[in-house]
Amino acid sequence: MFSQRLNNLHPYIPGEQPTDRDYIKLNANENPYPPHQNVLNSLQEALKNFPQKLGLYPDPDAESLRSAIADMLNQTGGVLCRTQVDNNRCEPERKDKLPFTITKDMIFCGNGSDEVLSFLFYTFFDSSVPLILPEFTYSFYPVYCGYYNIPMCSVPLKKGWQIDTDTMLSKARQTNSCIIFANPNAPTGLSLSRSHIREVLQNIPKNTVCIVDEAYCDFGGESCLPLLQEFNNLVIVRTFSKSLSFAGMRLGYAVASPSLIEAIFTVKNSFNHFPVDFLAQTAGIASCKEVSYYANNANKVVQERESLTSFLRERKWFVIDSCTNFVFTKKEELKGEDIYQHIKKNGILIRHFNTKGIEDFVRITIGTHEQMNELKKIMETL
Ligand SMILES: *Cc1c(COP(=O)(O)O)cnc(C)c1O
Repeated sequence: MFSQRLNNLHPYIPGEQPTDRDYIKLNANENPYPPHQNVLNSLQEALKNFPQKLGLYPDPDAESLRSAIADMLNQTGGVLCRTQVDNNRCEPERKDKLPFTITKDMIFCGNGSDEVLSFLFYTFFDSSVPLILPEFTYSFYPVYCGYYNIPMCSVPLKKGWQIDTDTMLSKARQTNSCIIFANPNAPTGLSLSRSHIREVLQNIPKNTVCIVDEAYCDFGGESCLPLLQEFNNLVIVRTFSKSLSFAGMRLGYAVASPSLIEAIFTVKNSFNHFPVDFLAQTAGIASCKEVSYYANNANKVVQERESLTSFLRERKWFVIDSCTNFVFTKKEELKGEDIYQHIKKNGILIRHFNTKGIEDFVRITIGTHEQMNELKKIMETL
């Protein structure tokens, strides 16, 4: 009754979305702040003024949304938390300013960056060549390898939990392979500098692509967007889910040279012409215009992250330096599962991965100041 392919599937398990109790949710790296009021208004106005649009297919290629995303990236340089906000005007730090202008033909939009990643796997990776990835990184990548029957070569992290790009590069050169990793990485939270990634790109095999997933870049680290000027085999993936408070709407995108984007469109149009619905396009455009609000929120998250990191380190927790909206931490003699259960019993959900090598750690999403105070009270008792 079932296809052979089905046996290759090992579905991704997302953070719990419980309905039985009102937990403080610090388990899925969602943004603790709501979308901007103008985003909510854009939805209400669209429904009031253009109700017929719900009965029509949306723009299949999300042209206006892609222009709005390009404008946002040109304004922020891809790192919201370093954007200076005065009187609602935004200015990125000098090192984040882009040396060129991103245009909408360099943007592809999908139903969450998970779907964008799925299209990228189909567009660029073959079942005859292993894909090179870090051992601990976003756990959807191995899932898609199973889905598309792509062999994997997973490279252990270095001591100190950093991605081992030297080994990844030498493997890639042996097998003429593509590379994928998240920067900042998840669930570790560590990031690689742009100059480090430039060196990786200078050394990857010809005619292969390198995918850098920047889901968390708005909370720190350095964006690789400026490198698009130098490398036409770089694909950057980003999401509205984390820094733009949009996880419930589902919107993600890829940024790359126009010829690569065109190929991704071919895949999209062979699967689903309309991955981004009318409401997501409408609210997505409105979100892109509120960078100062989201930059302020990202800054608050970063402040709370640094505060939680110091709090934990003062209490003998090991905390990996994070450039994201979460921390990855453990404490000697405590089991990850027990930390998770104890905190859950007290009304807060965090994430524990039952994966060999990181099973002692828990991943805690940064919430509001009040939520972090609650969490600290509970962690004090551990
Ligand atoms: C959250 C996350 C995504 C998925 O984001 P969606 O746009 O919500 O699908 C992709 N990559 C990484 C590394 C993430 O942490």
